[in-house]
Amino acid sequence: MKAIAVVPGRAGSVHLRDVAEARPEDVPGGRGVLVRVLRVGLDGTDREIAAAKYGAAPPGDDFLVLGHESLGVVERVGPAVAELGPGDHVVATVRRPGGSRYDAIGLQDFTTDDTYRERGINLLHGYLSERYVEAPDYLVKVPERLAAVAVLLEPASVVGKGVAQAFEIQRRLRVWQPLRAAVLGAGPLGLLATMALRVRGLEVATLGLDEPPYLNSDLVEALGAHYLGTRRHGLAEASEQHGPFDLIFEATGFSLLVFEAMRLLGRNGVLVLASVTGGSRAVEVPADAINLSFVLGNKVAVGTVNANREDFETGVRDFSQAELQFPGWLGRLITHRVHGLDQVGELFATLTSGKDVIKVVCEIAAETGGGR
Ligand code: BGC
Ligand code: ZN
Repeated sequence: MKAIAVVPGRAGSVHLRDVAEARPEDVPGGRGVLVRVLRVGLDGTDREIAAAKYGAAPPGDDFLVLGHESLGVVERVGPAVAELGPGDHVVATVRRPGGSRYDAIGLQDFTTDDTYRERGINLLHGYLSERYVEAPDYLVKVPERLAAVAVLLEPASVVGKGVAQAFEIQRRLRVWQPLRAAVLGAGPLGLLATMALRVRGLEVATLGLDEPPYLNSDLVEALGAHYLGTRRHGLAEASEQHGPFDLIFEATGFSLLVFEAMRLLGRNGVLVLASVTGGSRAVEVPADAINLSFVLGNKVAVGTVNANREDFETGVRDFSQAELQFPGWLGRLITHRVHGLDQVGELFATLTSGKDVIKVVCEIAAETGGGR
């Protein structure tokens, strides 16, 4: 079958290739689920792997099949699979358990292992292929009515985990009632964070690099949130106008903003850091002022990566709510569709073109396209 892969460590090596057919028998104990892939979304991580900044091949292979944001339909299940059946729509989680105590209870997103295995990213093949096989433990069933937008569930789960962490941590305050939030960044994660906070009833100010109006600022305003272009409005001004912020969600990929966010976070507030920043930038910060505001303000900052099964399930509920409250909004995040795995060149050209791109999706098979 066909798949899109890279040779990890070799920039510009993205290519279409033939890989071994996925077989349910490859999962032990009769627990294999064969999934026909409908579509796969791409993101900055895929861009970094393609640029050879990240990613490793599975042991024994010299290539890595890409793709970690998927939607598929179950085609066939092994004899010991009761929880899913042919025709079910599923989204696969990304990280697989390692050896720590967290992994043992399904929280591999909190692993303390040095290396972790993530499908399509590190040491395990991904979903940018015609089919894949997985155990049902790592497949999340999605209602058919969400099929058109469910490819966005993986990035939404990353955001959802960050928001869930914030609420979990704030139980320390017994009567925490968050009213105002800021989201830093108006890319896919920033937009999904804005949505997640709006469906939870918070007032949200979302800050992005570009001046409004443009698609991303329209999308922010369509949620009843405020968009602020950072060329004209800094976080300090945002906080004066729309704060104090009980929660700040950082998703810009620009680490220098973190310290400004720490300083401006409201009393008893929580700052969620979700940008995977591979660079090596250094900066001078007002350390005393930041520290003092944290101490006297009882503030918290928390980093968050990946997501567990529960976060995908929360994502399903948030999507259902969003479709009711803001019909059609999620679909507008998919700005670019490239049809067919063999259009790999166009797919990556679109992904790296930047402007006007929110989410690029590779359409691999039609919903009703013939099974086998
Ligand atoms: C993925 C996460 C993953 C992280 C680090 C992100 O792009 O969405 O699932 O844990 O990269 O590899
Ligand atoms: Zn990702």
